[in-house]
Amino acid sequence: MTNPDTLLVFDESVTRAGVEAWIQHLESTGAPTEMYRLGDTHVLSVTDVDLIDKAGPALPAPTHRVRKHRDVWLGRKEVRPTGTRVSFGPTTIGDGSVVVIAGPCAVESAEQTLATAAIGAEHGAAGLRGGVFKPRTSPHSFQGLQWDGLDLLTEARERTGLPVVTEVIDPEHVKRLAAVVDGLQIGARNMQNFALLTAAGQSGLPVVLKRGFGCTMEETLAAAEYLLLEGNDQVVLCERGIRTFEPSARFTLDLTAVALWKQRTHLPVMVDPSHSGGHPDLVEPLSLAAIAVGADALIIDVHVAPEQALCDGKQALLPRQFADLMGRLAPLAAGLGRHMSGAQSGASRVH
Ligand code: PEP
Ligand code: MN
Repeated sequence: MTNPDTLLVFDESVTRAGVEAWIQHLESTGAPTEMYRLGDTHVLSVTDVDLIDKAGPALPAPTHRVRKHRDVWLGRKEVRPTGTRVSFGPTTIGDGSVVVIAGPCAVESAEQTLATAAIGAEHGAAGLRGGVFKPRTSPHSFQGLQWDGLDLLTEARERTGLPVVTEVIDPEHVKRLAAVVDGLQIGARNMQNFALLTAAGQSGLPVVLKRGFGCTMEETLAAAEYLLLEGNDQVVLCERGIRTFEPSARFTLDLTAVALWKQRTHLPVMVDPSHSGGHPDLVEPLSLAAIAVGADALIIDVHVAPEQALCDGKQALLPRQFADLMGRLAPLAAGLGRHMSGAQSGASRVH
């Protein structure tokens, strides 16, 4: 029976010439065909399945034949059942290891940024976070050091070897940020800023896409499609808590979404227990739960002096608390047959 909504997936084992031959075959019959690229994987959208069956042995067999889902095509697990690995500087997210990215909510000063980065590297973080442009609820709050903060992030990277991720809030900023940092973060408030998603997709850089706190897990997958459509498969989904009727924590961490994403998408999944819990005491239990449920990575707020922080100090871990957390994560990872990503090479990264 004809299924008009089919994707033909060709992984890296199929040459570009083989994919081109398929396009020629489909177009010679007048069937409209779209080609998408996901890293080394090519995906053809086919409207007439009979043409696939009539292709003959001269054409390479597709690696997968996938039914097109309504809103989410390229991000579906079936397109790449082995999962996507995201290269964030020297760190790989999605290879089974447990990746911890640590750092301040906002880059505030040289002293604060460099000291926090050193703490992260010392205790086995595999990446540094730090916002230079901060999307704040109130315009009266600290908006970040903006372009002046960027050099501090690169200096921290030089000193520790940790790749850096920072939030981008404006499509016009993407190129300039992408020239410097190792990964871009799209924040919860911008998850459906489609111009920003497209620009970030075009950068080719890894993108941490945070779930909007009023968006469903499927809407997050649909937002990720904007990045994937640009040929950028270096996308990490981040659950950072949603707004519910429960007022006891800043947000409610939706671990069900993490489990569902692990089943429904090939993209790696990150959890932010700092912004969801909003309190240092919640970071450890939420982190352990996130890894147990299958998250590939955690992103954690750490600050050398949280009481002086200009942004989100109430949820930041002290260096000692971060060290304790890493100590608790390692045996959990081992029990799950996983290892801590930064721990193997963390010591050698500190200059
Ligand atoms: C952040 O990571 O500092 C941040 C603003 O997060 P979110 O977009 O999840 O609120
Ligand atoms: Mn924050």
